[in-house]
Amino acid sequence: MDLGALYQEIILEHNRSPRNHGELAHATGHAHGKNPLCGDEVSVWVHTTGDQVDRVTFTGQGCAISRASASMMTQALTGKSREEALALFRQFHDMVTGAAPVDEAALGKLKVFGGVARFPARVKCASLAWHAFKDALHEDATHRDPA
Ligand code: ZN
Repeated sequence: MDLGALYQEIILEHNRSPRNHGELAHATGHAHGKNPLCGDEVSVWVHTTGDQVDRVTFTGQGCAISRASASMMTQALTGKSREEALALFRQFHDMVTGAAPVDEAALGKLKVFGGVARFPARVKCASLAWHAFKDALHEDATHRDPA
């Protein structure tokens, strides 16, 4: 797939040396995701303090896109408020599905995944970790605010 040489290099570099990789011992939320189309699997751990997402980690195996996306996601979400994190999830989702015009400035480096919108089979690879993050944040909120 042609994502451009620079974008491809960023993705390959994160695949080789993923950031925030590993289980998080004192996580407040955790979720697992699978993409059977490609064989990708990812687990995402979050730790929140008050309204702030102060730590996001992942483990997983799969294609370079799924691992690089998880790695760059953890960097993008660390330090965000819940609302900001969910807004970024929506921006990323809209970008990779091509569902709506996106705010490129808000996405920053995550723009490297914009090209997958042209490859429907890879959309799940790029969005897998983000869905797991959303589930983990939901679990975290459930623990925080018992109904
Ligand atoms: Zn994949």
